[in-house]
Amino acid sequence: MDQDQHGPTGESRNERCERQGSASTSGSVSNYARAYRALYGRPEEKPGLRRDRLPEPLDYYTRHLHRLRMRGDWASARCPFHQDKNPSLSVSLTHGGYLCHACGARGGDLLDFHQRLRGISFREAAKDLNAWEGP
Ligand SMILES: [Zn+2]
Repeated sequence: MDQDQHGPTGESRNERCERQGSASTSGSVSNYARAYRALYGRPEEKPGLRRDRLPEPLDYYTRHLHRLRMRGDWASARCPFHQDKNPSLSVSLTHGGYLCHACGARGGDLLDFHQRLRGISFREAAKDLNAWEGP
């Protein structure tokens, strides 16, 4: 007689999915981080940069562009980088990126835009926007 039988051990696996929805998804920081990662496939690392202190894209673009026209998460206006007669420039109100459909000027965030607008370096732009810590 063969009684070498072992029944099923009766282990039960409880794979629960807890801790969902507790992460903070507010603010433009995570929006930008997500967009950056989607675009470049890696998180951004820049020492000194305090992206959380950047102005809201809507506030910034309202101050720096004329007649912003809202279109959901995007807005359009005349492009400051070429002699624009139509609102060729689209700007993102979530991550701050911009794209001109006429001259091709483009960038991923407010810092890119500010650099180009003022003709200054990345760090100078970050300082100008109060988003730089250190020298
Ligand atoms: Zn343009």
